[in-house]
Amino acid sequence: MTTSVRSLVWLGADRFELRTVDAPTPGAGELLVEVHLATVCSSDLHTVTGRRLGPHPSVLGHEAVGRVVATGDDERRTVDGRPVRVGDRIVWGVTDSCGTCDRCRRGLSAKCRRLRKVGHEPSDGSWPLSGDYSTHVVLPPGVAVVHVPDEVADAAAAPAACALATAVGAVDALGEVAGRRAGVWGLGLLGLSACVALRAAGAATVTGLDPETGRHPAALRLGADAVAAPGEGLPGPFDVVVEASGVPAAVSAAVEALDVGGHLALVGSVAPAGNVDVDPERLVRRLHTVVGVHNYEPHHLLAAVGLLRGSGDQLAELVAPPVGLGDLPEVLRAPAEGHLRRSVDPRR
Ligand SMILES: [Zn+2]
Ligand SMILES: [Zn+2]
Repeated sequence: MTTSVRSLVWLGADRFELRTVDAPTPGAGELLVEVHLATVCSSDLHTVTGRRLGPHPSVLGHEAVGRVVATGDDERRTVDGRPVRVGDRIVWGVTDSCGTCDRCRRGLSAKCRRLRKVGHEPSDGSWPLSGDYSTHVVLPPGVAVVHVPDEVADAAAAPAACALATAVGAVDALGEVAGRRAGVWGLGLLGLSACVALRAAGAATVTGLDPETGRHPAALRLGADAVAAPGEGLPGPFDVVVEASGVPAAVSAAVEALDVGGHLALVGSVAPAGNVDVDPERLVRRLHTVVGVHNYEPHHLLAAVGLLRGSGDQLAELVAPPVGLGDLPEVLRAPAEGHLRRSVDPRR
């Protein structure tokens, strides 16, 4: 019997259409995965509101969890080398990388020369079912996959594919974190995930900063020792900082709050935001390291799923109950307040 695939196709601007096609037979190394829950990352909201460019028509969505329903062969392996079989519950990375170009070989597979991205490929191109806002998604061999333990809820597992894995990548970029004083600017899901990752990496203290005080309790539950709104006195000094807000003033403040020898990972600035006021003398004399982080490597996804065993329940609370595919356009046009992530169960 042929499986039908129903997808929400983005037509550009805030226009969408539900389309049904026959499921393709996976090719060598490919997987066909039934999506059980997809969460709505802010970058998809930016795409629909025009702040971020994307090809269309296309199927958006790049944070999801699901079950393998068909494999092209027996060759596919998870990041930790285990075979992938029909019936396996998995999360998958946001990038499809070749594994052989110079960037892939030096460990920058997220910036592969032949990069394709989950949820960002045209429906009429080489990877029509690339997005997670669909009953099924096709995962080419270059997409990292990781098994999800049964005890981890769908609502915790789905955002691991973008927010938590990216946060793990940002903390990895900070170098030595154990025993250090850490700060996190911006307590959206990315910043909250950074609190989880910093705590797991052994930070001595974790301070979360966000003007929206309603986000502070979640930060305290997820590993922060202290929370503050910017302006409540000068925060820090910190040895390691993750800037997850992308707000230019926050980037400047994060630099100001670094102690001598401090490391700053910028991960929130993913849309053009103008220049930032930083005196380079400060970076030089105070021996600062500033590093940009965008997407992540497969081992970060594996580590992110590992963190869900401890923090999964608290993370799942930040995700709203799922809507069906037909109601998703409204969510993408006007995200409701109250939860940091909306979600969709495409089978509905
Ligand atoms: Zn994302
Ligand atoms: Zn490559």
